[in-house]
Amino acid sequence: MNSKAKILLIYTGGTIGMRKDFDTGALKAFNFSKLLQRIPELKQLDCDIETISFDNPIDSSNMNPEEWANIAAIIESNYLIFDGFVVLHGSDTMSYSASALSFMLENLAKPVVFTGSQLPIGDLRTDAKENLITAIQIASLQENGLPVISEVCLYFEYKLYRGNRTTKINAEHFKAFTSSNYPALVESGVNLKIRSELLLPKQEGKELLVHKNLDNNVVIIKMFPGISESVLAAILSIHHLKGVVLETYGSGNAPTEEWFIGLLTKAIDKGVHIINVTQCSGGSVNMGQYETSTSMKEIGVISGKDITTEAAITKLMYLLGENIPQQDFKMVFETSLRGEIAL
Ligand code: ASP
Repeated sequence: MNSKAKILLIYTGGTIGMRKDFDTGALKAFNFSKLLQRIPELKQLDCDIETISFDNPIDSSNMNPEEWANIAAIIESNYLIFDGFVVLHGSDTMSYSASALSFMLENLAKPVVFTGSQLPIGDLRTDAKENLITAIQIASLQENGLPVISEVCLYFEYKLYRGNRTTKINAEHFKAFTSSNYPALVESGVNLKIRSELLLPKQEGKELLVHKNLDNNVVIIKMFPGISESVLAAILSIHHLKGVVLETYGSGNAPTEEWFIGLLTKAIDKGVHIINVTQCSGGSVNMGQYETSTSMKEIGVISGKDITTEAAITKLMYLLGENIPQQDFKMVFETSLRGEIAL
């Protein structure tokens, strides 16, 4: 007989556990123990749930690499005791956090499911209960005594996605996330429809490695018609800058003007890594397809292929923190480490 799965619920903050401050009318995080009192349904789930909360729960706009390291540390120190982890997190930066944690947790063999909600758990029309209950159910799924899912995911509005493939697309709809370049791993209807063929392969017999050292000497630059030489030059000359995620047009295109390619070349020669990602919500960078990306390919711009901006910036911080040798950086970045990029 299988024993019940043990799930650790990690509360970091976010709307799910907020309530209105009646003086200001703004939503503020409140004590986590009260959150659980509001969901007696959790007792009906066929798993044992324990909870842990950030001492000071945060709106996810205050998320940063230090807080990511805190989440990673909680998972690390509880890894052998629990079968799965559900991280309650504000939706605003949830895709960044799920992406970051996917890189920070190497050889993950258990599910880490991020979820949250658009309305507080106490609201009559809340989406929090479904998100939370199904996220826990998914984290509890076991087959032959092993977790079915062994990666960092994000569950929202009836869909489980690979976390590092997601983007928040709507500030109002319950369907707040999308994963344009990778299908949902699980769909929740009357039954849970699991697409096993899409899951990352199991990491059996490997020890969990937790990487907490992220380097945030990075920047995201979104191209727009009219971007000036002085603006780009100023950004690229930032002291200690080590990496740039350059959001280009379409399949990775940008101006062919000499000053533009000249500035990128100068930055690359200084050792700055430049990652080309598309500002389209779906599809892939393909440098060399158009004349407007050929020079970038020639000067050594790294292709982000079909990666999201959220995964690109967190992968950059992670790889910089790992001190990957300069000559290997491009090859490592263009390789799929956690299913974040097309093979
Ligand atoms: N501002 C909130 C946050 O990201 C929104 C949410 O929880 O969905 O923390």
